[in-house]
Amino acid sequence: MSTTPSTPAATPSPEAAPRKRRPPRRVQVTRVQTLSPLMRRITLQGAELEGFEVNDPASYMKLIFPEPGQTEPERPLPDGPRPKSMRTYTPLVVRPDAHEVDVDFVLHGVGPASTWAAQAQPGQVLFLMGPGPGYKVQLDAPSHFLIGDDSALPAFETILASLPAKAQVKVLVEVVDAAEERPLRSLAKLDIQWIPRGTDNNKAGQALEAALRQAGAPAGDARIYLACEAAAMRRIRTLLIDELGVDRSRIVGRGYWKLGTVNHPDHDYGED
Ligand SMILES: Cc1cc2nc3c(=O)[nH]c(=O)nc-3n(C[C@H](O)[C@H](O)[C@H](O)COP(=O)(O)OP(=O)(O)OC[C@H]3O[C@@H](n4cnc5c(N)ncnc54)[C@H](O)[C@@H]3O)c2cc1C
Repeated sequence: MSTTPSTPAATPSPEAAPRKRRPPRRVQVTRVQTLSPLMRRITLQGAELEGFEVNDPASYMKLIFPEPGQTEPERPLPDGPRPKSMRTYTPLVVRPDAHEVDVDFVLHGVGPASTWAAQAQPGQVLFLMGPGPGYKVQLDAPSHFLIGDDSALPAFETILASLPAKAQVKVLVEVVDAAEERPLRSLAKLDIQWIPRGTDNNKAGQALEAALRQAGAPAGDARIYLACEAAAMRRIRTLLIDELGVDRSRIVGRGYWKLGTVNHPDHDYGED
């Protein structure tokens, strides 16, 4: 998480925020940090972030990127068609007083978001919409289990920031290789296992699945947040339920992206 004074995006809320469409907000890049070879933290700032509030960890927002040939995306009309270059990202840390939000981007290859993040520089403009709801963490649960890939690392960081010191949390996270490993912080007792998958994205989730099978059944009372490539999420959800005996009510699954699919929807829960 950011080392500057900040309000974690993970401030827990007892109730769901009502969903309403908010107008697009124009934001500018003010800072770009390299966290690892394939992960960049980009700070977005703008007066239009006034009132931008995130209540749950693992919430999401929509970012609108410039189309080829544009220096700045067109401001979307609130009830107009969906912009083609709109993608889903996690508000990592929100600093309301500074009108800032940090976003971590995986540089996975070609796509409007990843391509933009790889070249991002201070002064560039995006539009932001949202936020949408996140994960209702059960803060009094003694044990938590976060299973996912690099795209879910920002969500995991917001969940970790929300957990109390008495909680135990195990994290299994699949990344390309060991160069992507970095410290994650939480008040909770943290056990992190980084799992290398290699550069072939077609193998997304395979190493994660194998590591989970090897780790065996999670603690019986564990609350599980599972977020990664959509097909891998389904396989791992089935493994948890059918082989490891986890009650499905303890699992929240999210397909964060899908192999070969552009702009996978933000509401893929794998319960089909
Ligand atoms: C709720 C939610 C929160 C998310 N938060 C974040 C976040 O904070 N940071 C983040 O980096 N991502 C996050 N994602 C994932 C992100 O939305 C997708 O990775 C998105 O598809 C990236 O857009 P793009 O324009 O780069 O690629 P697209 O144009 O959507 O896809 C182009 C190609 O790239 C492939 N692809 C897309 N994403 C990945 C990936 N991660 N790894 C490998 N191949 C990929 C697709 O299969 C496709 O073939 C989140 C997703 C959801 C649903």
